[in-house]
Amino acid sequence: MDKNRLYSLPDLPYAYDALKPVFSEEQLRLHHDKHHAAYVNGANALLESLDKARKDNTDLDWGTLAKQLTYNTAGNRLHSMFWNNLSPPKTANKPTAKIAEAIDGEFGSFDRFRKEFTQAAVKTEGSGWAVLTYCLDTGRPIIMQVEKHHVNVNPRRPVLMVLDVWEHAYYVDYKNDRAKYVENFWNIVNWDEVNKRLEALL
Ligand code: MN
Repeated sequence: MDKNRLYSLPDLPYAYDALKPVFSEEQLRLHHDKHHAAYVNGANALLESLDKARKDNTDLDWGTLAKQLTYNTAGNRLHSMFWNNLSPPKTANKPTAKIAEAIDGEFGSFDRFRKEFTQAAVKTEGSGWAVLTYCLDTGRPIIMQVEKHHVNVNPRRPVLMVLDVWEHAYYVDYKNDRAKYVENFWNIVNWDEVNKRLEALL
């Protein structure tokens, strides 16, 4: 098996305790080493089943496979983006540069954006993500909710920032208090990274 044609779990771009007190080391280890890893392993198992079926010339069930493959690969991708759009806590953590201009232009102010994005995150039903996207057709930053890891994705709206609101992301530290988790998230947004993602699209 050519390892270059499989997924691999990226290391966190900081230490496991670097996001304290927003995330404990236990919460971050569980989320990265167990949950994120499960999507990587799940995606690779599916790819290997494709290779095997083609080699043996046996049938594949694309009715099931298509969904499972998208679920696991998108889960891997969103988690990688999540780790990279976080950084150690800062007080008065705010966007700068192009992303600040884009947010002000669309929402009127950062506070207004934060309020709307917080609502999208708190009100995501079941397991999913609150996501800031950039609409290539209109040049507007648009909030959306991704159900699970893959439902609602729009090919014309690349992702600028993600917030994991699956219970596995916060339950060790916050139990069922998702609102408190989302409030603390704002202290660890890596705005430089979010800005880079936007600038790559302009
Ligand atoms: Mn997660």
